[in-house]
Amino acid sequence: ILRLQDVKRGFGAGATRIEVILGASLEVARGEMVAMIGPSGSGKSTLLHICGLLEPAEAGRIEIAGHDAAAMSESERTAVRRMTIGFVYQYHHLLPEFSALENIVIPQMIAGTRRRVAEARARELLGQVGLSQRERHRPAELSGGEQQRVAIARALANKPALLLADEPTGNLDPHTAGDVFALLARLVHELGLAALIATHNLDLAARMDRIITIRDGELGRA
Ligand code: ATP
Ligand code: MG
Repeated sequence: ILRLQDVKRGFGAGATRIEVILGASLEVARGEMVAMIGPSGSGKSTLLHICGLLEPAEAGRIEIAGHDAAAMSESERTAVRRMTIGFVYQYHHLLPEFSALENIVIPQMIAGTRRRVAEARARELLGQVGLSQRERHRPAELSGGEQQRVAIARALANKPALLLADEPTGNLDPHTAGDVFALLARLVHELGLAALIATHNLDLAARMDRIITIRDGELGRA
């Protein structure tokens, strides 16, 4: 589902130029949960943004569900992002004024889904993450783990083939992190997603299907 070939990315120019990704090649298949570990500043978030078509690579090839990123127009990239990719971040980024249900409905409606369909899908997802009883709660009325479960449900609303997560449990206590991770792993395997998950949590990384390391701009195997 995700294929990177010799992807390069740095920032800045001249004397302030820094090289972050020196040549990353990686494949993540359907149903596979891959952990990405590496020191702070090693380029995990940068690589996830590139995989998510949120920022361009400077060289190399990026393929998502058979689509070559370089061949896409900006609107095609947006469409692939909306239809094929789900994102989960360290901070849930839920809309504070809206209920759990609405937080899952609104992005679907922005992508063109009718309200009735979006609500049915949101209810189904809240059931899958065990929050059917919380659909009217606003983010501030939910625990950190519950907020993150809503964020996971939101990420899955468009039935993505690829799930990208940046420290999805980084903001949670160890017990809750384990629960949220277990939920994520179950959904990835049940739904047959390809998942690339950046984490500092080595215990959780060890529970994934595969670990890749990133260090000094190079990807490696753990
Ligand atoms: P952390 O574990 O702390 O989240 P990370 O592995 O996700 O770190 P990145 O956020 O990908 O690291 O950053 C990698 C490097 O790229 C850092 O040195 C950072 O300062 C630099 N960087 C990232 N984004 C930009 C940007 N937009 N402009 C300039 N430099 C950037
Ligand atoms: Mg990061």
